[in-house]
Amino acid sequence: MKIQIDDIPPEGLEFNFDGSVNLMGNSLESIKLPPDMDVNPNGLGQIRIDQNHGEIVIAGNLEISARMQCSRCLVKFYSLIPVTIDIKVKQGASVEKHYEQELDIKEDEILILEKEIDLSEIIAQELSLSIPMKPLCKDDCPGLCPECGSIIGTEGCSCSHGSSSDPRWEKLAALKSRFNN
Ligand SMILES: [Zn+2]
Ligand SMILES: [Zn+2]
Repeated sequence: MKIQIDDIPPEGLEFNFDGSVNLMGNSLESIKLPPDMDVNPNGLGQIRIDQNHGEIVIAGNLEISARMQCSRCLVKFYSLIPVTIDIKVKQGASVEKHYEQELDIKEDEILILEKEIDLSEIIAQELSLSIPMKPLCKDDCPGLCPECGSIIGTEGCSCSHGSSSDPRWEKLAALKSRFNN
């Protein structure tokens, strides 16, 4: 989704975003994703673009529904990731004048050299900052049983764990594993 800077009216632009976000776009090579994550997750939300005195401000709130894989039990699940966009766009032309004084681009600013803004790319960049590197299907996911390979606590696993909830035993177990290593 590309916006021509010259097309932004004085009163700004506001619109609904409803579409997929491509996390593997050309200029996004630096984005790191957890294994098996959906590279085209769907996003839904609102975006507003304002322009005054050559400064472009993009603000928005989106929810991205991404398929991921739990880093503990390996189950695939959908996660709703909230993404807040609040950045300023600096155009290359206006920056060039001060080129000698070194570019002063802050964390919430991006520099573009073209006359258009690639919104999907901005959304993808902002989303990449919110993606957990070790996704969990739920905070207390018990993970896979080291003995039988099933998810601990499910029907497939009837091995003996979880019964050592007594903290004294946990200390002993920790000691034991230190000696074993
Ligand atoms: Zn899990
Ligand atoms: Zn088991």
